[in-house]
Amino acid sequence: MTRRKPPEAPRPRIAFFEFTSCEGCQLQVLNLEEDLFPLVGRVEIVEFREAISSRSDAYDVAIVEGSVTRTSEIPRLQAIRERAGLLVALGACAHLAGVNALKNRFPMEDVRRAVYGESDLGADTIPARPLSAVVTVDATIPGCPVDRNELVRVLTRLLLGRSLEPADDPVCVECKLKENVCRFDLGEVCLGPVIRGGCDAICPTFGRPCDGCRGFVNDPRLGAHVEVLRRHGLTPEDLMRRYTLFTQAQLEPDGPPRRRKEGGPGA
Ligand code: SF4
Ligand code: SF4
Ligand code: SF4
Repeated sequence: MTRRKPPEAPRPRIAFFEFTSCEGCQLQVLNLEEDLFPLVGRVEIVEFREAISSRSDAYDVAIVEGSVTRTSEIPRLQAIRERAGLLVALGACAHLAGVNALKNRFPMEDVRRAVYGESDLGADTIPARPLSAVVTVDATIPGCPVDRNELVRVLTRLLLGRSLEPADDPVCVECKLKENVCRFDLGEVCLGPVIRGGCDAICPTFGRPCDGCRGFVNDPRLGAHVEVLRRHGLTPEDLMRRYTLFTQAQLEPDGPPRRRKEGGPGA
């Protein structure tokens, strides 16, 4: 994650933008309610379609949700990058291309046909890419949707010009601290060992295995993890389905960076 100069304006101007997404991460921002108050007096929100009607091309920080899935989105994102001192990727779609990248498994013509039928095969659709494949991203808030506490923490640090390196421990670390019964011991399979933590292991804590929405840790031991999953009866097809719900683009040759030390899906 690159660190840039913090905005110098007394009240940095923040603009929110959405690309291909469900807008659930922006909704999380709105859901912050009183938790957002400490920030409200310190920043000026100049564009946020879900909350205000004003628009502006003058902003210091662009907070961008969603992935790039159409050619027409590329110049739009580049223009936002040009105007912003800092660009923040908000949520798994922006960070990893997220669930949008599921379409990358298929030829784009088949995707067009499935969505638009035979009548509109000229529809603009390209393999989904995270923002970082198109422009420089200064900070990322991972998750689907983003964690509200992390959102406030990252924005606060960003505005103070502090370091933004994300945690690199896997979800298992927080899960163990919570003293959860491991989903593997309950006969389920979980991606926690190879997925970046920071979400307080919310899914295992509430009775579900981790599906990987925060993307791989920097050095995922995919070979060892795949072996565990195989021992739990997953076929290669099951494995790919589990791995690629959120991390499809990370497993592609030109996807978001992850170091590949061992074998595993896509390695
Ligand atoms: S990361 Fe999840 S919640 Fe956020 S916009 Fe994408 S699909 Fe929606
Ligand atoms: S439930 Fe998942 S995250 Fe928790 S310890 Fe087991 S493998 Fe790790
Ligand atoms: S436990 Fe896994 S799927 Fe759930 S929020 Fe954390 S990283 Fe995402």
